[in-house]
Amino acid sequence: MGLADVVGADSLLEPQGRFLTDLMGRGVTGHADAVVLPSSVDEVAAVMRWCYENDVPLTARGGGTGLAGGAIPVEGGVVIGFERLNAIRAFDPLLWRMHVEAGVTTADVQRRARESGLRFPPDPGAAELSQIGGNIACNAGGPHAFKYGVTGHWVTGLEVVVPPGEIVHIGGSIRKDVAGYDLKSLIVGSEGTLGLVTAAWLRLIPAPELELPVVGLYRDAEAGISAIERVLASGVVPAAIEYLDAVMLSYSGDAYPFGIPDGGAFMVMTEADGAASEAQRAAAELQATLAEDAVAVHAPTDPAQVAELWRWRGGAAFAILAQRGGAFSEDIAVPLDRLRDVARETLEIGERHGIPALSFGHAGDGNIHSTFLFSPDDPGEEQRADAACHELFELALRLGGTVTGEHGIGWLKRGQLEHQLGATGYDLHLRIKQAFDPKGLLNPGKKR
Ligand SMILES: Cc1cc2nc3c(=O)[nH]c(=O)nc-3n(C[C@H](O)[C@H](O)[C@H](O)COP(=O)(O)OP(=O)(O)OC[C@H]3O[C@@H](n4cnc5c(N)ncnc54)[C@H](O)[C@@H]3O)c2cc1C
Repeated sequence: MGLADVVGADSLLEPQGRFLTDLMGRGVTGHADAVVLPSSVDEVAAVMRWCYENDVPLTARGGGTGLAGGAIPVEGGVVIGFERLNAIRAFDPLLWRMHVEAGVTTADVQRRARESGLRFPPDPGAAELSQIGGNIACNAGGPHAFKYGVTGHWVTGLEVVVPPGEIVHIGGSIRKDVAGYDLKSLIVGSEGTLGLVTAAWLRLIPAPELELPVVGLYRDAEAGISAIERVLASGVVPAAIEYLDAVMLSYSGDAYPFGIPDGGAFMVMTEADGAASEAQRAAAELQATLAEDAVAVHAPTDPAQVAELWRWRGGAAFAILAQRGGAFSEDIAVPLDRLRDVARETLEIGERHGIPALSFGHAGDGNIHSTFLFSPDDPGEEQRADAACHELFELALRLGGTVTGEHGIGWLKRGQLEHQLGATGYDLHLRIKQAFDPKGLLNPGKKR
């Protein structure tokens, strides 16, 4: 029996184009024998059963916005896309919960929640394209993860298809569950290597009444990171604490809505939120804390300006790409007392490899996007940027951190996990994979 007998010809596509790569930006294209776009969980289960019976690799694909090459089918076989599994199965605004299929985009969940005065807090950057299934598979974060936590924190239940093609329900529309081992957390962040997420129960919260960003500009990284430390020590809980270093500002600062003042060479971006009085009090405290030693502090209150500020922050990542045409932007995370080491050593790594380097990111979570630029026309430069990334991974581990805080291991960071987990930890990791996927057919080559 062929795959077309299992899912029907209209669910089967020629393997080409976007289904063979993702936004990792390293020009890696995989290969596949078929692309399947199932419309029901039963079809997903049937596809997995077929793959398991025929020893065919099966790679899950969400919105393809992953930055670690996780959705690239590197060992051929079948790519399974979730875009047709895009129903909101239930939305109970009064109970702050939503039951969605895996292919619903992050932005659609956020929009539906917002229309009812609620919020789905995870805010990874490519929300219009990324899917809830992909967010769960990567345990995606974003700027507001500092206060609200990463995607997994907002998942109370999962519907998953596991080898050899069984549908399991873990948790549900319940807010607490300590019955078994924490299978939900094993699936969250498993990058399509343990099972295929077909639906999720999401937890929502009432949307904050006000969001008040407070931005500090400093003469250098030392002054800026000291400001971050003061914010953390102050007892105020901002929704986000981001930083952008001098090189990043030199590329993106022209479009900054409030103008970079002379001498402003390191930006700390925070936001207070909550009920109006609470947000205003927290914003005032942030202003006072950030003002010490600052070149300037900007605190927009007009919602249009606030939106413009975050739009600029989102677009700043693209301004980097415009510099030389190529950029490898990593996502290491380190303990908060090592932030200044990352800011300084990122630049030193770039110097050693003869390429421009910069850092920015979710400073409050110690999750920094150290970035190395190159021209795609210069293979030598691209190789040096790649070598710089490997040195960065070593730095992350030396500082007691992790090689990935939000993008995942995927294909890009293959080989790094054993360094990070050690022999015994890595063996446990492999045995968990074996328990879920004894034939090793789910997203082979990834998360290793
Ligand atoms: C401009 C930009 C900004 C970004 N900003 C952030 C950010 O702030 N924070 C952040 O964390 N990430 C960020 N990302 C990375 C990316 O958007 C996230 O990792 C996102 O969660 C990936 O979702 P996706 O649907 O695109 O997944 P894909 O890229 O399609 O897949 C990612 C991984 O998930 C697996 N997968 C996908 N769907 C399923 C499923 N249904 N079941 C099982 N496995 C599945 C794939 O096999 C793959 O391993 C950004 C990316 C871009 C391009």
